[in-house]
Amino acid sequence: MEFNRPIWTEIDLTKLKRNYEKIREIVGRRNIICVVKADAYGHGVVEVSKALEKEGTYAFAVASMEEAINLRENGIKAKILVLGYIDPKTLNIAPNLNISVSMFDKSFIKRLKEYTGERPVKIHIDVDTGMGRLGILPGEVVYAVDAIKKIRNVEFEGIYTHFSSADSDSEYTKKQLLIFNKVLSKLKDERCLPPIIHSSNSSAILNAPNSFFNAVRPGLLLYGISPLKASVEGFEPVLSFKTRIIFSRKIPEKASIGYEKTFTTTKPSLLATIPVGYADGLPRSLSNVGEVLVKGMRAKIVGNISMDLSVLDVTGFPFIHPGNEVVIIGKQGNDEITASEIAEKVGTIDYEIVTRIGKRVKRIFKNS
Ligand SMILES: *Cc1c(COP(=O)(O)O)cnc(C)c1O
Repeated sequence: MEFNRPIWTEIDLTKLKRNYEKIREIVGRRNIICVVKADAYGHGVVEVSKALEKEGTYAFAVASMEEAINLRENGIKAKILVLGYIDPKTLNIAPNLNISVSMFDKSFIKRLKEYTGERPVKIHIDVDTGMGRLGILPGEVVYAVDAIKKIRNVEFEGIYTHFSSADSDSEYTKKQLLIFNKVLSKLKDERCLPPIIHSSNSSAILNAPNSFFNAVRPGLLLYGISPLKASVEGFEPVLSFKTRIIFSRKIPEKASIGYEKTFTTTKPSLLATIPVGYADGLPRSLSNVGEVLVKGMRAKIVGNISMDLSVLDVTGFPFIHPGNEVVIIGKQGNDEITASEIAEKVGTIDYEIVTRIGKRVKRIFKNS
């Protein structure tokens, strides 16, 4: 596990599978659509998807046609749903690769009418019940369904909505669900409900059991990260982010560290440099506030984080030398730094911390 530049994430596929099984326990026999967009939230989409496919997942959801094609090129056989925008030109590719697409815009009807391929295009209609981002308005769904039912070679496979605040506002989630249920009952009256109905993201899987319908769409929870303020019993983070000290030395007091001299030693200090910077996904706003684990203890990041390097204050730590392992996210000794802790420090969400881990950070897959 030694590289030129010692900086890597460890992806524990055993924990991934356990998180999947835990979701399975919560949702029973309903279909699980594993959300693996953005390189499986930075965890490495091919290995993650292969492991989840072995668990028997019903489908994968991704953000783009490129992400969907990448899964097929890497041998993934399960169904794939593209949640986001697709170029209408790619409509001809989707059915041949068994990729389902989302219709979130009425103007898509026109594109479907122009589709000339042999195999049916599979469509999931995205209903905007209050997310306000993508989606067909509730009052227009019946019209849209009638329109696509008339088009040759279009298969109305599913319908879904997305919650904006299932982690924090149960009243608003209830409102969104009520609107979605009304749309569903109208479609039922018209005898055109599609087979697959879904709405629950990770927070709704934990908070809104009446939102499960016959499929759920977890992302974050699969990776063992809690979408709620508190951690959730039974789920464990899949990803650890690690590096090694590459340089350490004693330095006198009144020495300034890094760009813009934002840190100056107030006493003789022991400092250690790690080959991790903001280009690797260590947020620059952790400068002088972030901590990492060294020898099972917390070391402060001192001075401004550079693009490729950061400096730690390890004064008083025992036996510091190049090669010592440093944990940025994960466990060491009896302590743990989570993506949530970092997110809170820099004023963002865990999603952003893990998806921004840089391309030049190696992914190592293991089974614990
Ligand atoms: C990203 C996404 C999800 C997964 O959300 P989590 O909060 O990670 O569980 C589900 N549905 C849609 C439409 C999404 O964009």
